[in-house]
Amino acid sequence: MATKLTGRVVFPNDPDYSEARTNLNLYRGKYPAAIVFCQDEMDVLNALKYARERDIPFRVRSGRHSYQNFSILNKGIVIDISEMVKVSVNTSSNTAVIDAGADLGHVYQSLWKYGRALPGGTEYSVGVAGLTLGGGIGYLSRIFGLTCDHLIGVRIVIPKGDNSAEIVEANKWKNRDLFWACCGGGGGNFGIVTQFTFQVHPIDMVSIYRVEWDFDQMEKAFDSWQNWAPFTDERLTSDIELHAKSQNLILSEGQFVGPKEELKQLIRSLLKGTRPRRIQIASLPFNKAFDHFNYPAGNEPSYFKRSGSFVYEKIPERGIQIMKKSLENAPNENASIWQQSLAGKVQAVSPTETAYFHRNALIAQEYNTTWEKGEDPKEFVEWVVALRKHMSPYTRGDYVNWPDLTIRDWPTSYYGENFDRLRKVKTRVDPMNVFNFKQSIPPFSH
Ligand SMILES: Cc1cc2nc3c(=O)[nH]c(=O)nc-3n(C[C@H](O)[C@H](O)[C@H](O)COP(=O)(O)OP(=O)(O)OC[C@H]3O[C@@H](n4cnc5c(N)ncnc54)[C@H](O)[C@@H]3O)c2cc1C
Repeated sequence: MATKLTGRVVFPNDPDYSEARTNLNLYRGKYPAAIVFCQDEMDVLNALKYARERDIPFRVRSGRHSYQNFSILNKGIVIDISEMVKVSVNTSSNTAVIDAGADLGHVYQSLWKYGRALPGGTEYSVGVAGLTLGGGIGYLSRIFGLTCDHLIGVRIVIPKGDNSAEIVEANKWKNRDLFWACCGGGGGNFGIVTQFTFQVHPIDMVSIYRVEWDFDQMEKAFDSWQNWAPFTDERLTSDIELHAKSQNLILSEGQFVGPKEELKQLIRSLLKGTRPRRIQIASLPFNKAFDHFNYPAGNEPSYFKRSGSFVYEKIPERGIQIMKKSLENAPNENASIWQQSLAGKVQAVSPTETAYFHRNALIAQEYNTTWEKGEDPKEFVEWVVALRKHMSPYTRGDYVNWPDLTIRDWPTSYYGENFDRLRKVKTRVDPMNVFNFKQSIPPFSH
């Protein structure tokens, strides 16, 4: 008997279609034929079977944050799991079972009730699914590692036979190859994750800092930050955002899992030789810190182009000058270059131990522009593309969670030496290439 769609299904004529189809990035939005908001694993299974039986293209969606909107499509079906959000915590084993539709805000708040943390990203509306499957970088990365480093196992719906689907578990004992691929191999490639089991950490008070400089301090502030942030005490993870010149703001923020007095000492090296205009340091409970780092504007749908790259060696003076020039000629005041320090525990895992390859990078770097409805995107997109190109002599590889269709050598760029192994997993799990989109991992037969 033909499978039926179950769950909350939204069609184009429904009043909530517009909200249901809209992702965070409004640039190149899409118009699916149906969006299935799955309520449980059976709905996910049915949705995949339904699409396969009728040969309908589909995409998988959780937090809607894909930069390139890989989680939506025109005409086909969106299998959305964002209404599956249960979180349960076991404080004696320090583990949490988290439904894959939960967003980070919900995950952090749920864990905090038990005084626990999962190292993840910053904005609340990012889906834990896309984040984890691509790696997961955030303000606890240097002390604890990436989100995917905390993964113990997944439940995942994968294709079966010609037209069917099945729910399997993947962990260190079962489906080991698939588990390895789920630790940084990127979302949407192998199946639909319905549940994650994570290791979590007890956490209580943390200290945070915020330092501001005028734009004329950009070169000094950036150089000081890059010489310090990836090498300082690994309990401290920090970032620096170089805003367009018209904003006159160079901003560094960070979180230290330790007392304020120690943090004060640590940031002395950052400040040395620069003229900051404002310095703030505070000690606060961890839940207040993740609230602080969640910028509400970052959770609102907007038109944007973002791209990024990894920095393996310090950016020399010539590279710093390229960034400065780009910021002086930015298309509007919202354009920025953002860097986050890595190393620490991120480097404690080898590049091939998980599918997340860029273990030895010092910095993850992003180029950002946003614009208003009705504005021509060309200038904004070109600014990002040109900056990426000009910075390429000083960068190596890209983060799969910051996908960019202009990256031609994306297999090596995202996955380095792990690409072939990912193709092997794909060939075993999804030989018919049922899960596919531009920049998805192809099986060997395709
Ligand atoms: C404002 C903003 C802030 C961000 N901050 C951070 C950060 O601090 N740290 C960081 O590392 N990254 C960050 N990112 C990048 C983020 O990790 C990626 O965009 C991530 O892919 C988002 O996942 P999602 O579930 O929200 O998005 P979606 O668009 O729903 O999905 C992203 C990809 O994962 C696939 N996918 C979604 N759900 C599933 C599932 N259940 N099973 C299998 N595949 C699935 C989709 O098909 C798609 O390919 C940020 C992005 C934005 C826009």
